[in-house]
Amino acid sequence: MSIQQRLAKLNPRQQEAVRYIDGPCLVLAGAGSGKTSVITTKIAYLVQVCGMSARRIAAVTFTNKAAREMKERVGQMLKGKEGHGLTVSTFHTLGLNIIRGELKALGYKPGFSLFDPEDAKALLRDLMNKDAQVDAEQINAVQHQISEWKNDLVLPGQALSHAVDEDEQYAARVYEAYVRHLKAYNAVDFDDLILLPVVLLKDHPEVLARWRRKIHYMLVDEYQDTNVSQYLLVKLLMAERKTFTVVGDDDQSIYAWRGARPENLVTLGEDFPRLNVIKLEQNYRSTGTILRAANTLIANNPHVYEKTLWSEMGQGAPIRVVVNRHEEAEAERVASEILTRRIKERAEWRDFAVLYRGNFQARLLELKLQHYQIPYKLSGGTSFFSRNEIKDAMAYLRLLINPADDNAFLRIVNVPRREIGPGTLEKLANYATERGVSLFDACHELGLEQQLPARAVERLSRFTHFIDGVRRRMDGGDALAAIRGMLLEMDYEAWLYQNASAPTIAERRMANVWTLIDQLEKSMRRDPEEIEAEDAAETDDVEAAISRLVLRDILEQQAEEDDTDKVQLLTMHASKGLEFPHVYLMGLEEELLPHRNAIEAGTVEEERRLAYVGITRARQTLTLTLARQRKAFGELMDCTPSRFLDELPTDDLEWEGRADREDPEKKQARGQDAIAGLRSLLG
Ligand code: ATP
Ligand code: MG
Repeated sequence: MSIQQRLAKLNPRQQEAVRYIDGPCLVLAGAGSGKTSVITTKIAYLVQVCGMSARRIAAVTFTNKAAREMKERVGQMLKGKEGHGLTVSTFHTLGLNIIRGELKALGYKPGFSLFDPEDAKALLRDLMNKDAQVDAEQINAVQHQISEWKNDLVLPGQALSHAVDEDEQYAARVYEAYVRHLKAYNAVDFDDLILLPVVLLKDHPEVLARWRRKIHYMLVDEYQDTNVSQYLLVKLLMAERKTFTVVGDDDQSIYAWRGARPENLVTLGEDFPRLNVIKLEQNYRSTGTILRAANTLIANNPHVYEKTLWSEMGQGAPIRVVVNRHEEAEAERVASEILTRRIKERAEWRDFAVLYRGNFQARLLELKLQHYQIPYKLSGGTSFFSRNEIKDAMAYLRLLINPADDNAFLRIVNVPRREIGPGTLEKLANYATERGVSLFDACHELGLEQQLPARAVERLSRFTHFIDGVRRRMDGGDALAAIRGMLLEMDYEAWLYQNASAPTIAERRMANVWTLIDQLEKSMRRDPEEIEAEDAAETDDVEAAISRLVLRDILEQQAEEDDTDKVQLLTMHASKGLEFPHVYLMGLEEELLPHRNAIEAGTVEEERRLAYVGITRARQTLTLTLARQRKAFGELMDCTPSRFLDELPTDDLEWEGRADREDPEKKQARGQDAIAGLRSLLG
């Protein structure tokens, strides 16, 4: 398709936005109105119609996923060399490139390192512990404060002079030392990727001139989520030419907690009085019903700019609200529905997306999806089996059923800490190889005493006796009780607390481990109320159940990265800019969405925008799910349906399961119907 044909497909307002190239341009419009489409078409327009070199164009957005998608869309339009040198990246990648090109001016040596938040935290811990013992929470607070300063372009000197109380003064002093140490390590942190380029461009006119010569046109997607530093970066680069296009939607501003300034939309008009503001009103993504829900919900927020969105996509299906008994039933419901709906609606896996407020909500869902062998991709956040605590627990399980599993042995022999060092393990391994036995068995052999000091031998055999003891108890009766007892006896929880940066993290990790054990129990004993797949019918012993879990784990690791036909699992935050035919929004409960912290902090409006973002990802169908009870802090708690449900148009909602609990027999029958129906569909 030629660029002219592409342009012809856009509506007049979109065309205007693409064609306007002489000055600053802001496209302010609601979800699904084609803002990102304007950006991608405009890049092609600049190259193919205006004859601008792709090298002179920089398009930036926020997430890697969004940048990748944009690159793909542009790649389809530009042929061969046309796209050479084009920058389509996240803000942070652009910053990284500037830093790379300007190391000398910045006073950095080549080969600098980028500290991730964990590295940064470790440095802060060292610095803060110099004065007095500090706890994880204090470190987090200071880290957050420093990040805020950096996002707001506040340097250590300014932070110190503006500090309003002792806490801020302290944080500012740590900030100063932190920056000094980073420099000494030749390292930068995540926020520096924006801050350093801005400071550099401000202070070095010759560097600024060089980058202004390099970048002639800038395009920014999701502009409402820029922070002060990011806006300044755009402003510095574009101040002279004033040639840029930014697109955004104030109703989708969901990163205030990370320093985003939706007021940047207003600032832009002040800084660039000739700003051409273009509004788009037609939505090309969602059915009328979905759009009405989104509009009605967001009308509860105050608005700076009035926007009206309409769609020609037809009314579509009503929005379903599914109330479940508890969180596990919710996950089960979503997974089994996707399984049947894929066939009924002739959809692909990738047509389904499940969105949730926090990554932890994916835990149960993943297990259910695996159970039904539904391929899925988890964005952001670590998939269940690759979490460290799950790997540890799995290693224990593997060692219990197979003491010869040397890898499992090595993973957990010193977890929790048993003072068994790498030197000891190396000698043990040599000895085991020589004798042709497993590491576990080598610990029992008498000859070991000649190789290792008595103390090391004793520690090793204490470990193997511990494992042997658990094995005996497993053989003797209740295997699950023995496994749970093992976790308690070695106090794995205490180990997690020692190693987590915050108690809540340790808590969550321990909850993950218990979920794994619950899962093991499930696959041993069938819950008569659950709809299970065939393979679970053969009730069996713990060994078989453990090997099934191990297999799941291996299968997941083997899952090919480039195989893209998968159900998408992502947080609402990560879903920005994306769209899917069928969307599930999970956990529509008070304290979850809106989140408890937001309710307490009085920032429910941002949560409403988050729900708006989630709803507007859907093209054809939207399903909202919630649970009547959910586990929190190890206890089952009653949940209240989210206030956002009350804010949606009543007539468009179709409730399921709101009445009292359904007769279990009827439910069972329905489940069997579903499976029978599925089988017949599969032939
Ligand atoms: P969001 O606010 O969620 O980021 P957006 O405003 O960036 O949404 P796009 O993702 O660009 O919207 O477009 C939404 C959908 O509408 C896409 O599938 C896109 O291909 C389609 N679309 C955009 N403009 C048109 C048009 N003029 N005609 C037909 N389809 C269009
Ligand atoms: Mg977009």
